[in-house]
Amino acid sequence: MNKPFDFELERLTGQGTDAAPRQRDFAHLSMRGTFFLETFGCQMNDHDSEKVAGVLLARGYRQVETPEAAGLILYNTCSIREKAAQKVFSRLGEYRAKQAEGKIIGVLGCVAQQEGEDIFERAPWVRLVCGSASYRKLPEMLAQLEAGNHHVTGLDTDTDETFETEITRRDNPFRAYLTIIEGCDKACSYCVVPYTRGPERSRASDSILREVRQLGELGYSEVQLLGQTVNSYADPSPRTMRFAELLLAAAEVPGIRRVRFTTSHPSDFTKDIVEAIESQPKVCEHVHLPVQSGSTKVLRAMQRTYTRDEYLEKIAMIRGAKRPIAITTDIIVGFPGETPSDFEETLSLLDEVRYDSLFSFKYSPRPHTPSLKMDDAIPEEEKSRRLAILQDKQREIQTSRNARLIGESYEVLVSGKSRREGQWSGYTSSYRLANFTSHANELLGTYVQVRVTGATPNSLVGEHVV
Ligand code: SF4
Repeated sequence: MNKPFDFELERLTGQGTDAAPRQRDFAHLSMRGTFFLETFGCQMNDHDSEKVAGVLLARGYRQVETPEAAGLILYNTCSIREKAAQKVFSRLGEYRAKQAEGKIIGVLGCVAQQEGEDIFERAPWVRLVCGSASYRKLPEMLAQLEAGNHHVTGLDTDTDETFETEITRRDNPFRAYLTIIEGCDKACSYCVVPYTRGPERSRASDSILREVRQLGELGYSEVQLLGQTVNSYADPSPRTMRFAELLLAAAEVPGIRRVRFTTSHPSDFTKDIVEAIESQPKVCEHVHLPVQSGSTKVLRAMQRTYTRDEYLEKIAMIRGAKRPIAITTDIIVGFPGETPSDFEETLSLLDEVRYDSLFSFKYSPRPHTPSLKMDDAIPEEEKSRRLAILQDKQREIQTSRNARLIGESYEVLVSGKSRREGQWSGYTSSYRLANFTSHANELLGTYVQVRVTGATPNSLVGEHVV
């Protein structure tokens, strides 16, 4: 996704920075000192792109909104969808002519890691291939490109460091993402992340809290702590702060009104996280807890490290909290060996948990994953049929769960303004989208009380309560 930007270095850092003189040094480079960055994929990728943009801005590059206006075109890729690599190569084909115009083309992210130097073979006009575990070396790689090196790669995944930047250019003016743990040490058999993002590395708690304080000073009121398995966080500093303590410490930072976190792994989800949500209203009442399947047999084949019953124990712990906590999940249908009765178990899990929302996918094999060797015998039409049944069931559940909220009032962080007069939107602490009416002139970035007057499966409808 492409995003508009407004480049104000001082706002990004909250202070004057020695990066500014370097920016002026590059001013004469005109188009050569400009970059266009296109991002696909998850919030981790979005946030990586924010940090990559920060690295480039600190080196004096200027971000532009079209590839035509850029000297450097970067493509931050995602391999979660099937045929991701083909799509990347077809897009790179479109960029071939641009290289002839003297532009530098670079591929970042999961497809870069997955395909590696093969990208240079298939698309020799690409000059930079860099996986996310090597982003901390980006300044060196940029220096090599600027020095005229033709092919530059960053494909190490055995790093024990995290990607921290002097400046991060954030896209959302109200909610700031912060990666607290990179990579993954789990080994789910369908997942390419351990290969593309490398082993788990946590950031020191002091560094995280310093950034949260800076964000509070810059006017951000909501922070979202990110990690593929965010709750596996293990503070590498002598402070050895637990994840739940980190949530509470971030909530204490002046100016911060909401702390979110995603994605949680069920095996590492502990009672103290629920207690943090119970005790501190600023820690958002939402947990994204991917289950992937309701069948213990399929969970074993997926190497998910918990059984259906163990997962349901975690759900009971969250549902038992003194404060209602919304629960969302991810589900894969049609995993190799998933029988009709395994799928029925997933449907019955939906009935038992009654998720507030879910992301569902049809299984498709990915390069460099253990499940690639399994027989993917379930026909595509059957996977589609199961997906449709699952989604229909979930739609009914969401319709009824949201309808129960009619008449209640919730605090909403206003993040959208409709073209229609008096129509606004934003998110509740439970991460429900609320579309509401208000006569106020300006609400963006503020917190308002919204009374729910109606509900759809995916959003609430309401009115501003003054
Ligand atoms: S926990 Fe499993 S699904 Fe999630 S990133 Fe790690 S390996 Fe992938």
